[in-house]
Amino acid sequence: MLNVGSRGSDVTRLQQTLASRGFNPGGADGVFGPRTKAAVQAFQRARGLGVDGVVGPNTSRSLFGSSDRKYYDGVSDFAPAGTNPGGLHAGGGWGGSQGVSDRATAIAHSMGVPVTSTKRNLADTIRVGSNTGSDHYTGNTNAYAVDYGVSGARGTELARRIADAYGIPRSNIGTYNRHTITVDGQRYSVQLLWQVAGHYDHVHVGIRRA
Ligand SMILES: [Zn+2]
Repeated sequence: MLNVGSRGSDVTRLQQTLASRGFNPGGADGVFGPRTKAAVQAFQRARGLGVDGVVGPNTSRSLFGSSDRKYYDGVSDFAPAGTNPGGLHAGGGWGGSQGVSDRATAIAHSMGVPVTSTKRNLADTIRVGSNTGSDHYTGNTNAYAVDYGVSGARGTELARRIADAYGIPRSNIGTYNRHTITVDGQRYSVQLLWQVAGHYDHVHVGIRRA
């Protein structure tokens, strides 16, 4: 358990890990002060954890868990495809892919970004100029997709946070690449669309059971 007032190499590692995730603790001096607490709280908010600024078991697992330790060692060092980046769960409808999307929605919610679209029937698919290959289309029964209405730098921030939470390389942002993860023993392919054609006013997350 690390808290305000903690000192030592564990705090240094915590600060380095927070910084590598984009949560600035104000330096890695091994002293858990107010800026480190604020960074921990921001991380907890992004991960949908209880926001108390204390690094207890849940926050520790989310930050240092063995399945995502490799990723958190640095922004250029990503979790391998086929691993659960941690804290994701299958459930709900659409082959469990709806549940896998929940974390992205929680992150958007924490930023005050609204959900603007989920599943669409054939008429709506045609109306919005989409197609039946889309994860949004209700005919794709093992897929789920959510759009988050946001633009500009906040869109980039949301896309990065979602990428990190799902173990998607940030380099996938701006591409149509899909990334495969394993959640609750089932493989899911995740597509994060931002700043590609038609995706400048919303971030799209598509999940499909593989
Ligand atoms: Zn979409």
